[in-house]
Order: sequence, then C-alpha cells, then structure tokens
Amino acid sequence: MRGSVTAELRTIVELQRTDLKLAELRRAQAALPRQVAAIRAGLESTRAAVGQAQADLEEYQKEGRARERQIDEVREGQLKSKGRLMEVRTNEEYTAMLKEIEYADEQISRLEEEVLGLMERVEVQQVALKGFQERVKVEEERFAKEKGTKEEELERVEALLREQEAWRSELTSRLSEDLLASYDRILANKDGVAAAQVLDGVCQGCNQRIPPQTYINIKNDEVLYFCQGCSRILFHADEGLEG
Ligand SMILES: [Zn+2]
Repeated sequence: MRGSVTAELRTIVELQRTDLKLAELRRAQAALPRQVAAIRAGLESTRAAVGQAQADLEEYQKEGRARERQIDEVREGQLKSKGRLMEVRTNEEYTAMLKEIEYADEQISRLEEEVLGLMERVEVQQVALKGFQERVKVEEERFAKEKGTKEEELERVEALLREQEAWRSELTSRLSEDLLASYDRILANKDGVAAAQVLDGVCQGCNQRIPPQTYINIKNDEVLYFCQGCSRILFHADEGLEG
C-alpha cells in the first residue's frame, strides 16, 4: 500500500508543479500581445499628436493669410476714401470720410497685430510638430524592436506550453479517474493550487494545523489526505514543490 500512495502523491506533486508552470506560461501568453498593443497604442497617440499639430499649424497659416487679405482690402478701401476726400462738398462729409480713413488705420493695426500673434503660434507649432515627429521616429524604432522581441518570447512561451501540456497528460494518465477528478475540481476552486505542502504540521494552503496522527501518516506517505480546512491534497515537505 505504502508504495502506491507514495507514487500517487509524487505524481500529484509533479502535476501541481506542472500546473503552476502552465498557469504562469498562460499568463505570459496572454500578457505578451497586450504589451505589444500598449506600445502600439503609445505610438498611435504620438502619430495622432503629429496630425493634430500639423492641422493646427495649417489652420494658423490659413488664418494668417486671411488676415493679410483683409489688410489689403482695408488698405484698398482706405485709398479710395483718400481719393474721394477731394471730391466731397460739405464739412460733414469731409469729417465722416476722415473718420473712415482713421478707422481703417485702426483696423489695419489690429489685423497686423493678429497676424503677428498667428505667426508666433505658427512658430510654436512648428517646434512642437518637429518634436512630435522626432518622437514618432524613436517610438517606431522602439515598437519594431520590441514587437520582434515579444513575438520571439511568445513563440518560446508557446513551445514551453506545448511541452508542459504534453507532460501534464502523461502525468494525468498515471492517476485514477476519481483522484484526477478530485484534483481538477480542487484546482479549479482553489486558485490553481490543488496540492498543499505541510510544514511543521501546518497546511501551507490554509494555515490550519493537521491532527498529529494524520500528520504522522502523511509523513509516512500512508494516506492520501485532504485538508479539513481547504480540502487540498496534502503532501509532506519532503516531496517538495521546488526543484
Ligand atoms: Zn489546508
């Protein structure tokens, strides 16, 4: 009897070790594409910033040209008014015409100020655009490099997964259907840990103390014992999950 419990327990412990590896590998398998997506998203947002800076720059340039045209129009109107100044007949008309000319001057200087303001914004935007463009270049290089690295890592992880999955089915073939069903049920219900180590008489899965006689039996590999606290399959420290 003793030999069979030991063999079963060793298989359970090895199965648990394999399942922990599998869980870790599956986490890595899921995380790697997300990591690539996060870098890609960063790159896309910098590309969007380039597009926005470019659009803003063009908008300021367009507004600047529109103001220049307005200045030309006002100047033309003012020139006409100046020409008509000699033709007016009454003082009121003359005063009104002068006011118009004066008003045109005010308009022109206001528009010229706006043009200056827009030119400043164009300069600022050009600097920002250049910065974003440089960042895109750096991020594109980084993305290409890291994507390659992550893809290689994913291939490696998937190869290990296949290896461990094959090993798992080899191990499960050694267990009775009932024991495997219990193991799998506990594994699913207890966060991927179906077998717990007993250290100094205490279950490491739930920290509950094991009754002394049971502890002795576990130490001697005489029984397959399910923890009363967490229902995990217990194994003695000697069977170690490490290594
Ligand atoms: Zn327990």
